[in-house]
Amino acid sequence: MSKIKDALPIPEQCDNCCSLNIQFTTNDRIYGRTYGDWPKIYYCNDCRATVGCHYGTEIPLGRMADRATRQLRTRAHSEFDRLWQSGLMSRSKAYNWLASQLGIAASDCHISWLSKDQLKDVATLSADYLSKNYAALVRRKVKNDAKQEKRNQRANAVERRKAESARRQKTKRRA
Ligand SMILES: [Zn+2]
Repeated sequence: MSKIKDALPIPEQCDNCCSLNIQFTTNDRIYGRTYGDWPKIYYCNDCRATVGCHYGTEIPLGRMADRATRQLRTRAHSEFDRLWQSGLMSRSKAYNWLASQLGIAASDCHISWLSKDQLKDVATLSADYLSKNYAALVRRKVKNDAKQEKRNQRANAVERRKAESARRQKTKRRA
């Protein structure tokens, strides 16, 4: 079994509606048949929020979520992921930034662990940060591209000189 780095406790009540009426069951409860290699889930009988488990364990993958929460997660992810996918910062720096913005520990900073309010904040904070830093990001990219272009030109010049001297050697031998 793979070691799980950051594990959440087993839920005692629904993470979505706080109901105590939750059960440890399998995902045929939602889909009518079981899906996946490890179909174990926690299910809320009141709001129908669910969460799957880490393979081979009863450890939840995140907080129990209903449909609205899952939609917020998708939105939060797409806004947040742009921060590191754009090259504005590395992925780990982005997560550290997010944790400090939310005022939580970096080890708790997983999208699937966040509440609805936090997820809304993630989307807003990420979009704001990217738009504020977009100009700097573009400037940095232009600068790096220019540097790369210079490197390419230098490499090409070296190649040209090599080819030129090889050609001269050949001409000399012929003379
Ligand atoms: Zn619930």
